[in-house]
Parts: sequence; C-alpha cells; structure tokens
Amino acid sequence: MSRNRSMIFLLALLLLAGSVSAAEPKDAVSGQRALEHVRELVRFGGRVPGSPNHGRAQRYIIRQLRHASADEIEEVDFVAQTPRGKVRMKNIIAKFPGPSREMVVLAGHYDTLAQENFIGANDGGSSTALLLELARVLGRRKNPLTVWVVFFDGEEAFKRFSPTDGFYGSRHQVSAWKADGILDRIKALIVVDMIGDKNLNLRRERNSTAWLVDLVWQIARASGHGIHFLDQTTVIEDDHIPFVQAGVPAVDLIDLDYGPGNRYWHTPDDTVDKVSARSMEIVGEVVLKTVERLGRRWPGRKSH
Ligand SMILES: [Zn+2]
Repeated sequence: MSRNRSMIFLLALLLLAGSVSAAEPKDAVSGQRALEHVRELVRFGGRVPGSPNHGRAQRYIIRQLRHASADEIEEVDFVAQTPRGKVRMKNIIAKFPGPSREMVVLAGHYDTLAQENFIGANDGGSSTALLLELARVLGRRKNPLTVWVVFFDGEEAFKRFSPTDGFYGSRHQVSAWKADGILDRIKALIVVDMIGDKNLNLRRERNSTAWLVDLVWQIARASGHGIHFLDQTTVIEDDHIPFVQAGVPAVDLIDLDYGPGNRYWHTPDDTVDKVSARSMEIVGEVVLKTVERLGRRWPGRKSH
C-alpha cells in the first residue's frame, strides 16, 4: 500500500469507528444490556424473599453495581412481618452524587411473586435489569443532581395486597428516610415496574403526582416515544404509594397490560421471550431525560 493509500485506509477506519460509536454513545441506555440482566436473573429461578435464589439475585445486583462504579452501595437489612411469619429482606441503594443535595430516586422491585413456577422475567426482572443499566450509565457521566438507584425488596404480597402485605421494601425505606431526614431531599421518585413488555403501553397512573406524570409524558412525546405513553389513565398500587403518602412527588411507570387479556401477569408465562430490549431502552431513555430536566429545576446549589 502506498503512503497515500494507507492514509486513506486509516481515515476510513477512523470514520467507521466514529460512526459506530455515534450510533451507540457510551452513556446511552442499552436495551440489549438490560435484556442480558433479565436473562441472568431468570436463570436463578423465582426470587422470593428469604429463598436462596433471592440471595443469589442480591449478590448479582451488588456485583453489577460495583462494576457501575456507584459512589456508595448501601444494603438496608430489615425483618418484615408477613402473613408467612418474619422474613429477612434487603433494599439495595446505589448512590451517584451530584452537585447538589437535592435528589431524584429511581426505583423498582427485584423480588418475585411467591408462586410455583413463577420466574418473573418482566415482573421483577425488567425493573431490576433496567435499574442496573441506568446505574451503569449514571456511573459514567456527570449527573445534574444527586441520583440514588434503589432496588426494593418485598414488593409482592405474600397473600393479598393490603396495608400490611406487600410493598415491604418501600414502606420500610420511607420510614427509615423519614427518621434520618433523607426524605426531604427527594424532589422526585420514579418507579419502574413491568416495563419490558414487547407491546409497551404505559398509562397515566392516577395515584402518581400530576406534574411529574405530565413532565414524563411531555418528554416521552418530545423524544418520539409518545405511542407508548398513552393518554389513558389507570389506578395502580405500587412502591410509589408510601412515598406519595409521605408527600414525595412520585410517578409509577408500569405496563399492567401484559399479554392478551393480561394473561402473562403473575403466571408461569412471564418468561424472557415476552420481554423486549427496545421497551426497556425506551423507558430508560425517558427516565434519564427526566432526570436531566429535574436537574435544571434544582441546579447545583452547593451542599451545606
Ligand atoms: Zn407482580
């Protein structure tokens, strides 16, 4: 090859490399990575609180968060009083500090329903997977405000959802954060749940805080994802409820319309083949853009 030819060859290579990295910027949410996490989690089987598989899932989450270079990983251990007696549970918190004390919490549950042959690829799997992928991205960039990524335990009820059965992790966290003053720093809580459905349909959840729902929907529409963020409303009890009751603005992003007639929900049919990388990527992108927007609302006042 002549010197000129090799220069052109090198240039072509550089251009190619450039276009590849432009197609997938380093700090963008990758649905494929999230889907890999779903596959790994499901490989453990059901992740019912107190079971060995549940412990495996915890170790997996913590290992991944270390890779994500979280500033701090906090394990919040507590004992939940359930209809099946006392169960040890653990919330896991990954902390990404920003220029101000004001913070946004991104959360979801990693436990799965206590039911035979249930592996929760979407319900418990997709939320965990997307949060891990969001943590990876948050760890690689400068964030406009402090972001904590929280993996709630014990979202599912052991018998039936009631004020004392279900949402064990979120209920515990609200009271812990009330006691130590953290709660006042939270400007918004974004909960993701069952966001991996191939046929992604998110509805405005009416227990959620109206201005925050509006903001997320506006951002989704501006990003070209409006087709998945329907203008219909729905009412769903989820991990955001204890926070809403405590006065924290919160939004629940959940697609509780899973398969024909919701047939895959809480059944052995909630398997990886029903979960879509693209759906998780879309929700992840909208969540990160919402964090950016909230960062503009609470810009970097120095901590005191
Ligand atoms: Zn569920």
